[in-house]
Amino acid sequence: MRPSILFPLFAETRTLAGVGPRLFKLIARVAGTRLIDLVLDLPVGIVDRSYRPRLIDAEEGRIATVEVNVLDHLPPRDRRQPYRVRCSDDSAAIELVFFHAHADYLTKTLPVGQRRVISGKIERFGSRLQMTHPDHIVPPGDEDLLLQEPVYRLTEGLTAKPLTKAVRGALEKVPQMPDWLDPAFARARSWPSFHDAIADAHAPSNEGDILPLSPARMRLAYDELLANQLALVLIRANLRTPKGRSIKGDGHLKAKAIAALPFTLTPSQTQAVSEIEADMAGASRMLRLLQGDVGSGKTIVAMLALLNAVEAGMQGALMAPTEILARQHMAALEPLAGAAGVRMALLTGRVGGAPRNEVLARLAAGDIDILVGTHALFSEDVTFRDLGLAVVDEQHRFGVHQRMTLQGKGRNPVDVLVMTATPIPRTLELTNYGDMDVSRLTGRPPGRKPVDTRVLPSDRVDEVTEHLRRAISNGARAYWVCPLVEESEEVDLTAASDRAAALRDTLGEQVGLLHGRMKGPERDAAMAKFKSGDTKVLVATTVIEVGVDVPEATIMVVEHAERFGLAQLHQLRGRVGRGSAKSSCLLIYDGPLGETAKARLKILRETDDGFVIAEKDLELRGAGELLGVRQSGLPTFRIADLAAHGDLLAAARDDAKLILARDPDLQTPRGAALRVLLYLFERDEAVRYLRTG
Ligand code: ADP
Ligand code: MG
Repeated sequence: MRPSILFPLFAETRTLAGVGPRLFKLIARVAGTRLIDLVLDLPVGIVDRSYRPRLIDAEEGRIATVEVNVLDHLPPRDRRQPYRVRCSDDSAAIELVFFHAHADYLTKTLPVGQRRVISGKIERFGSRLQMTHPDHIVPPGDEDLLLQEPVYRLTEGLTAKPLTKAVRGALEKVPQMPDWLDPAFARARSWPSFHDAIADAHAPSNEGDILPLSPARMRLAYDELLANQLALVLIRANLRTPKGRSIKGDGHLKAKAIAALPFTLTPSQTQAVSEIEADMAGASRMLRLLQGDVGSGKTIVAMLALLNAVEAGMQGALMAPTEILARQHMAALEPLAGAAGVRMALLTGRVGGAPRNEVLARLAAGDIDILVGTHALFSEDVTFRDLGLAVVDEQHRFGVHQRMTLQGKGRNPVDVLVMTATPIPRTLELTNYGDMDVSRLTGRPPGRKPVDTRVLPSDRVDEVTEHLRRAISNGARAYWVCPLVEESEEVDLTAASDRAAALRDTLGEQVGLLHGRMKGPERDAAMAKFKSGDTKVLVATTVIEVGVDVPEATIMVVEHAERFGLAQLHQLRGRVGRGSAKSSCLLIYDGPLGETAKARLKILRETDDGFVIAEKDLELRGAGELLGVRQSGLPTFRIADLAAHGDLLAAARDDAKLILARDPDLQTPRGAALRVLLYLFERDEAVRYLRTG
């Protein structure tokens, strides 16, 4: 349970004065629904109001703060004209301009004959000075209020004032907390307390204060990274507790499977297999990450590892994130299992009733050697006779907690191999996978050709359709991916079905549709038709993102490519270029593009090396644009910026290890403070592993 000291911070923002239902929704869009979300939503900029020129010297375009005399009011003659108020200092005059103004309000705030301090952007027309809608108008003496202001990320319909007010309200609720950092450590770095760091971060007084390397932000980033690393070390310690078993196959099944392959393993695959075998043979439990770009051939590596467990008299499980993928794995691996004389079965959410009971019974009796499936493998009633190895494919779709559950499936500690198609930069590896051991598949199976990648504006969509028409009449097959319009499947679906309908107008019945809302059998049917070539174009929402393998597909069209993350686009592109034919990827965007979106598309055009793309992705996300990252499942931090805080991550890691070595269940006073930290950054899943949680 969350410590009570944090309760106020986890209240919803609508409990704040001035936050009604509309504002609540808008704030939820930029920051989140709870006070803590506002507290951790740090300013992205600063308005500096310290420029205080005489009017005659005031520079065009700058934010200036000036003390003036109010001379007179010039109400508009008709509604289309603005209301003007003339003011001056001892050097020059300036006109304040208000559109749709309330005269009452203006006569009250700007009484004729009195002095006021105004602050806003200076406009100049020849020698005439003007300020449209000053940001602030206050009596002299009150201007300290408006020295510097934080600037927060906004969204359509949300303006700075109510958001800033809400943030202030949330900040008042931040309690004083016991410090979880070692005092000497924080002092050596001149870091403020958490409470002060939050206050400072929201009250920047110069540009330097909003940089990642300001003391307040360093402190907060460190807190966040420490919470992350503590959680990982806790989880890992928990996983490592039971000693593993040595799983050592004799190679006879693997040899049969390899003999049945229509290709030879690449050196990189062979290398990965031997790393995995060595690890499985070791006395401690295996926790290994198999990284390899899309299409690098991870599946066969997994199969050989599973066979290794079977040779040792145990069972293996292969878990995929979606039904389609589970079935695809099953289809790809069954022939190999057949060749090796190994019994495989499928268990997904769609296998029910008698067939399911039969699988469960055979599994418990040890009559199934390898079980392939989806989340259904997590169900409580799934019991293995002796599970030796669990392989989790496309890991990022699964949470840490689910990983745990599967590991609990064996009576004995289960070796775990996690496969990910997202090449992960080292720094991120650390934040998401702890110190899992890593095998990497580099390069691709022979015979792959690079995919020709083009970026086109959306007004050329007709050309793309025409290109498709020609290509499919020559026998080509194509994917057409429609974007995540909003975080709502329904809207996605409309985009995809509209596109399918439009394509059918030109291309006829050879256009298929695949989306997340379709029932399993429908989806399989759509996929099967595309595989067999009955449909030539498969319009899809991002359900095809992970792992689908149709070597005949040579064209990938991505609509609204600007809305996808780099890693995601790279994965999508990896769906083509799998066969021997030349493939292309057409990224259609809806302009105008932001800088980051532009950079992303450029990177994709220039490289197809997943590791390069991953590193660039990290750099770009350092720039703050998070879209697509959430979808890729890589960890996102609210404050820490790994591009800038990489050394803090390393320090946090050492700190976490040291803390837990001395106080494994966080029992000391500092330990108690660290529990608060874990909850504060919502690492609740780790708290579960404290023996006195
Ligand atoms: P991923 O790493 O994306 O899961 P897959 O395991 O699905 O990749 O492999 C992609 C394709 O490459 C499959 O069709 C597979 O049969 C093929 N493949 C795997 N290894 C080799 C190899 N050594 N030589 C040729 N083709 C291979
Ligand atoms: Mg795969």
